[in-house]
Amino acid sequence: MSDGVNEKILLLSCCAPCSCAVIKTLAEQKKDFAVVFYNPNIRPFAEYEKRRDENKRVCELYGIDFIELEYDNERWCELTHGLENEPERGARCSICFYMRLKRAMEYAKANGYTAVGSVLGVSRWKNLAQVNDSAYKAAEETGVPYVEIEGRKHGMQELRAKLIRELNLYNQNYCGCKPLNNKQEEK
Ligand code: SF4
Repeated sequence: MSDGVNEKILLLSCCAPCSCAVIKTLAEQKKDFAVVFYNPNIRPFAEYEKRRDENKRVCELYGIDFIELEYDNERWCELTHGLENEPERGARCSICFYMRLKRAMEYAKANGYTAVGSVLGVSRWKNLAQVNDSAYKAAEETGVPYVEIEGRKHGMQELRAKLIRELNLYNQNYCGCKPLNNKQEEK
């Protein structure tokens, strides 16, 4: 986690379960940050709303600003067109990460944030290196620094599990872009 003194971080979050431990930790460290929810990959829309509301609830609990950006699922579908049958961690995910991180960085740039971090790689189902590669590509293009936020090691997974239980967080069993079915991996 970066120790930048004057950093104002915009934290891109996908959901409450993946972000709760990071939000609690950064809040306790008195970091200057806000959470941005930009997830046009989540379908159906009712599921998007459910995850958004739950993520907002966590932010309110720790007194952190929660920013919701547009639900641009049409554009997400255009960008990932032709990659529908890719497996999770495949080429579709790289585009999905890149799209969301780049939009968060554009928002950060226009709104006085000095860096962007994310929790997109917190889940053990995700390839963290793939998330980071997409983030550094977006950072190079936007000129907004990317900070790697620790969400897996140093007790963070344990804290995450504890908070999911204690706060009774809604914990979905698929990543976002596919309808729920038996082939879905658990998140
Ligand atoms: S599996 Fe998740 S990260 Fe990959 S494309 Fe779908 S919503 Fe995006």
